[in-house]
Amino acid sequence: MRKQNENAGPSVSNSPELDLLCDLLRRRSVTPDDAGCQAILADRLKSLGFNCEDMPFGDVTNLWARRGSKEPVLCFAGHTDVVPPGSEIEWNTDPFEPVFEDGVLYGRGSADMKSSLAAMIVALERFLAEQPDHDGSIALLITSDEEGRARDGTLKVIETLQARGEKIDWCIVGEPSSQNTLGDMMRVGRRGSLSGMLTVQGVQGHVAYPQFADNPIRRFAPVLAELHGTKWDAGNRHFPPTSFQVVDIQSGVGAPNVTPDVLTARFNFRYSTEWDHRSLKQKVKDIFDAHDIDYQLDWHLSGEPFLTSEGKLTDAASQAVMEHTGSEPELSTGGGTSDGRFISPAGADVIELGPVNASIHKVNEHVRVDDVLLLSRIYQRILEIMLT
Ligand SMILES: [Zn+2]
Repeated sequence: MRKQNENAGPSVSNSPELDLLCDLLRRRSVTPDDAGCQAILADRLKSLGFNCEDMPFGDVTNLWARRGSKEPVLCFAGHTDVVPPGSEIEWNTDPFEPVFEDGVLYGRGSADMKSSLAAMIVALERFLAEQPDHDGSIALLITSDEEGRARDGTLKVIETLQARGEKIDWCIVGEPSSQNTLGDMMRVGRRGSLSGMLTVQGVQGHVAYPQFADNPIRRFAPVLAELHGTKWDAGNRHFPPTSFQVVDIQSGVGAPNVTPDVLTARFNFRYSTEWDHRSLKQKVKDIFDAHDIDYQLDWHLSGEPFLTSEGKLTDAASQAVMEHTGSEPELSTGGGTSDGRFISPAGADVIELGPVNASIHKVNEHVRVDDVLLLSRIYQRILEIMLT
């Protein structure tokens, strides 16, 4: 049932975090369209003394903002783009009109991750009012290309910074990392993601005369069994075991009396730091080459695994969460990929700390109002611990 906004409870917003968040939620920034969100953030940052640089690539809008020239550099990272709302009729409210109800704020991007952006900006405003002469520098790296191809966003900004010798030491990505309650989980790394696109070549034939044909399905079946049966690793202290999954197999000509000449398949590895993409590709090649099969394998690497060792940044974040919620976050490397995969290889310690992720990419995406305010306080506390 579709609920009209005027009947959906009072549209109360009485804090700077929620005011800013509502401004952002009203912008239809479906990936890779920024829809003016970064200009709102840049205006606020400029009044705080940040030097704001637009770094557009293709149809992607990116913002690199920095205050100060000293090292170390503490960077907040995030994205203004959101996934499409899907069938808007399934939403109880307009996905691009923020609606408050029972302490919850509804809207596309409310959890992933416009609430984190609002929390970051207001945390910075409070922190800089108290500590204008803090240690080091503060930066923000904001893209509109996290939910899409992720080619012209964070990756390109990092390449630009590297080319001119600018370095990020510590990075807090505002991705929704929490599971059940705010701050119960923090990401300190991510598994790698490697996809294979396979073509097996055979010879088409009459099903009654297999001796004159070469069925690619029969060729691939034992290889697939071996790929599935392989224990890739047992994981390690920080990573779950590497997982191999087939996502697609196509073959057959559509007739019951013809064996096909070609098979295509797609599969994906989510892998631990026990592998890199080269060693994993080699292992797969060895398995194929041990069978009698005419194949071609193309690869796409989404990102190598990364891990931030426990140290100053993870300690500060854990302490800040502990002080504001009463419990320490679990340090995890689960979940999908994030832009942390582009920031970490440049030498930064990267953590991801943001709202509860239960409703992200779903209809009726929402965030608890109290969590937005609390997240802003946690970000502010991390700034205090790291930069004063
Ligand atoms: Zn996100």
